[in-house]
Amino acid sequence: MEIINLFPGSWCSNCYIISDGGHAAVIDPSASAKGILDYIKNHGLQLDFIIITHGHFDHIMSLDTLRNATNIPAYIHEYDNELLGDGEKNAFKTFFGKDRAFAPADRLLRDKDKLALGNSELEIMLTPGHTKGSVCIITPDFLVTGDTLFANSYGRCDLYGGNISAMRESLKKLRDFDKNLPIYPGHGESAKLGHALDNAAYL
Ligand SMILES: [Zn+2]
Ligand SMILES: [Zn+2]
Repeated sequence: MEIINLFPGSWCSNCYIISDGGHAAVIDPSASAKGILDYIKNHGLQLDFIIITHGHFDHIMSLDTLRNATNIPAYIHEYDNELLGDGEKNAFKTFFGKDRAFAPADRLLRDKDKLALGNSELEIMLTPGHTKGSVCIITPDFLVTGDTLFANSYGRCDLYGGNISAMRESLKKLRDFDKNLPIYPGHGESAKLGHALDNAAYL
């Protein structure tokens, strides 16, 4: 399974394309739809679906454009679908003082759901704390951790649906994985899971 970050160092979230056996998925469509589609085309990939790690606006800025251009289905955990259509809950209003609504997802994910991509399988792990429906994506080669775990900290718990004790439990669940697995967070650099968890250990 390969992963590329199309939007490193941006104000918005990281935008990842993961691919295996010629099939690809977009995780958090924050980069421009054109940039995403150009990458897919230039690498001869077939785009199967979009996964949203959680419903905050900075992770989905190009969601509607991408879906309108392609009819690619978007997946989000069932607890975060309500964030998409509500500028208050997806935090757009908190930052910009006005509403911004996105279309609801095509499929609602649950904890432990498995998704085939090429010759591999992804597993969804519900990791609430940053939002109620925040997920990490488990692949054979790495974890995508959204705004749950960053290289040097964990996600804030003071926005809609945030819960610090749920975050503590979610980080505990991540301790069960191999410490050498790379993590690809919603913001900032990749890191080894063990390193990131050590840096979040003050919670
Ligand atoms: Zn974020
Ligand atoms: Zn967030």
